Amino acid sequence: MWFRLSLMALWLAGWLMVGIAGRAAAAPPKIYIVTDLEGASGVYKFAQSYGKDSPLGQKALEYLMGDIAAVVRGLRDAGAGEIIVYDGHGVRTLVPHLMEPGAKYVTSERGAKHPSDPPDSYFMWGLDESYAGLVFVGLHAMMGTPDGVLNHTRDSVRRSRYWYNGVESGELAQGAAYAGHYGVPPIMVTGDEATCREARKFFGDSCVTVAVKKGLAREAAVLYPFAETRQALYEGAKRAVAVIPQCKPYTLQLPIQAKKQHLLSEGPDKKPRLVTEEGTIPDALHIFDF
Ligand SMILES: [Zn+2]
Repeated sequence: MWFRLSLMALWLAGWLMVGIAGRAAAAPPKIYIVTDLEGASGVYKFAQSYGKDSPLGQKALEYLMGDIAAVVRGLRDAGAGEIIVYDGHGVRTLVPHLMEPGAKYVTSERGAKHPSDPPDSYFMWGLDESYAGLVFVGLHAMMGTPDGVLNHTRDSVRRSRYWYNGVESGELAQGAAYAGHYGVPPIMVTGDEATCREARKFFGDSCVTVAVKKGLAREAAVLYPFAETRQALYEGAKRAVAVIPQCKPYTLQLPIQAKKQHLLSEGPDKKPRLVTEEGTIPDALHIFDF
């Protein structure tokens, strides 16, 4: 009896292992999308990215939703599994009735959170080691990029700049480093030509880049027609799923030696002063605390 039971247990255990291994091999890749507004098709001036409640700002949100939809369709058609879209722009940008099916959309209202919430409590909500790739949609180049449309790093008014281990980094590298903590590689970046150039510099040529416009200055651009950008975004997203095995997570040596600069305004009739701070960040999950 004991013999028969242990044989049975062995058979069951083996069957379970085959089942789990088979499922893991066949599991469709989970993709995490981070969005921003400044790098969307058709957006080229700050009045579009600040003015959420103006007709101009509302239109800009629709432009971004169109870009997101094209990327979600491409990922889905290439066999992606669960897709999360995280609303990464400060004043939030997702338009519920324009959400492409096949993804979950994460957003929050800034300033209306519970007082006990830490400042970035929803930042890249749900991201963990189970994701196969990170996609940036609608990003912009770092502060000071001459041909970067709406170039800035986090705070465009205070003209902030950030360095990690001596390398100046924009929002692309910051977000990718955060995901890199979980071993999730950037597989696709969309924005203007300068953003795509920045992505290749930081993440290598395996990362798929799709430019939706070309910057001439901070608020001047050559815009590409939506029908063309959406087609390119769709095709790019399909390629991005295929290149996952070639993409490497973006990681920083720890602890991170950090430096930041911003303009400090001390009154209406005083010239803003450039302030520099230095510090140490224990790991990339705390990159946005500095
Ligand atoms: Zn941004």
